[in-house]
Amino acid sequence: MTDNKLIDENGIRKDGRKADTLRPISMQVGVLKRADGSSYVEWGKNKILVGVYGPKELHPRYKQDATKAQVRCYYRMASFSVSDRKRPGPSRRAQEISKIVSEALESVVIAENFPRTVIDVFIEILEADAGTRCAGLTAASLALADAGIPMRCLVPSCAVGKIDGQIVVDLMKEEDNIGDADLPLAIHPKTDDIVLMQMDGNMTQEELLRALEMGVKACHQVHDLQREALRSSYTDADMDDFEEVVMDDQ
Ligand code: ADP
Repeated sequence: MTDNKLIDENGIRKDGRKADTLRPISMQVGVLKRADGSSYVEWGKNKILVGVYGPKELHPRYKQDATKAQVRCYYRMASFSVSDRKRPGPSRRAQEISKIVSEALESVVIAENFPRTVIDVFIEILEADAGTRCAGLTAASLALADAGIPMRCLVPSCAVGKIDGQIVVDLMKEEDNIGDADLPLAIHPKTDDIVLMQMDGNMTQEELLRALEMGVKACHQVHDLQREALRSSYTDADMDDFEEVVMDDQ
């Protein structure tokens, strides 16, 4: 395989994956003692820690919504998370990701249960290797579940993209850098409604349909891993309650 080819003649990608294979993913909840809910996700070479605080009264009070809670996400990449030291402090990219992740989570949290409050979600990217917004959102919804916040469902997320003219799931850094397109996606797993979709690059209409089909399938695989992470951290009795709050149809 020549250096600039991302997929070989057998359809195998540089890291040994097939087009529809996710990177290795591990997820844990309840990793921070002082947070109301937390999670830690390793997704390929990405390492992500999430802490959730709330629901708590929102200050200043004029920002409160008398009918529901607000979900505020803070996505932040550590300076040591990428190979060149990342400039510390806020950036337009972090602001954008915080906003789209907040919106995706707001679509599932049963916010009417907690009027006048705020739920803060801190997403800390410790190591980044592409796909951090998807992994961060996946981890954030797990941390909300760990905090016991009622939700209509979890939010699994995964990117799908185009490299060497082929549609593949879950681009790693090199594929993201020199690939043709990257399309982060997140869904409601019960309905397949899309709650996050962005696109960098170009696809034909046919490729886009194929990408959505593969992306939704990948999100369901991520959802299975989320459920597994929650299951392994709770007793059977907890899990019965949990199924009622987060996993049943509402
Ligand atoms: P995502 O991580 O969701 O794929 P991007 O496509 O914006 O988001 O970024 C792709 C990857 O580029 C990141 O995961 C990270 O590895 C790298 N990256 C992003 N921002 C920076 C930065 N400021 N400095 C160095 N690398 C960065």
